[in-house]
Amino acid sequence: DTESSEADASTVEPSLEDSTQEVALDVRGLTKIYPDGTLAVDDIDFSINDGDFCVLIGPSGCGKSTTLHSLVGKIPVTEGEIRLGGEEITDAPTYERDIGLVFQDFQLFPHLTVGENIEYGLQRLQFDADEQEKRVTDIVEMMRLEPLIDRQPEELSAGQKQRVALARSMVLEPKLLLLDEPLGDMDYKLQKHMERELLRLHRELDTTFVYVTHDQTQAMRLADQIVVMNDGKVEQSDSVERVYNEPATAFVSAFVGDSN
Ligand code: ADP
Ligand code: MG
Repeated sequence: DTESSEADASTVEPSLEDSTQEVALDVRGLTKIYPDGTLAVDDIDFSINDGDFCVLIGPSGCGKSTTLHSLVGKIPVTEGEIRLGGEEITDAPTYERDIGLVFQDFQLFPHLTVGENIEYGLQRLQFDADEQEKRVTDIVEMMRLEPLIDRQPEELSAGQKQRVALARSMVLEPKLLLLDEPLGDMDYKLQKHMERELLRLHRELDTTFVYVTHDQTQAMRLADQIVVMNDGKVEQSDSVERVYNEPATAFVSAFVGDSN
């Protein structure tokens, strides 16, 4: 009958919004001036789609780490707005943000075992014992850390330490995982291996990644989206293809051209 088919037509009407990916992170007008007067991040805007592997790239000193530290709440911002999953988190305490941060130098607790390092942040979340154990078991299996669970950090190789650092962040199941040059100190072969591990981890988890590097070729291999920074500003925020084929500025053109 006509009445019900009309109703059906109105409910299935295609909407443009439904066909676009949801925005996970939205940054507007972010500015950071350090207490000594250094303008490290200068009024930047960018957004990242839910589930994307975003690479934030730019030369040393351009403001990449400052941006990550602002996102996670490690430092207060001077101006601007940060939204995660639609919710404003600009001034929220770090532990309420649902954002993980992995450092270049891992920053494992030296006096705790691998297992204790991974469990550390979970205690605050107060899961029951079963849920806590399941989360730890799952991530330990995913990162293939079973044989290392009772070791001390000092007994591990760089690649092993990085896997523990990733596991320690991922066990908290953050919406957003920030990685600050996490493969910076590794040799080329180990970097390639860890890149594959990161891509696998990203595929298996429902998490948006922001990965910081100054290495253009690494950005190419990893990214869905690239944000190019220079001197505290965002020069371009786009898909990998567009950044390489249609660089927005002379800086982007020269910077991505470096690797060719
Ligand atoms: P990147 O991670 O891209 O190398 P940073 O965010 O570390 O860049 O640094 C951006 C700018 O801010 C640089 O000029 C750096 O010297 C400066 N800077 C970083 N941390 C501080 C700080 N705690 N106090 C003052 N200036 C800082
Ligand atoms: Mg840095």
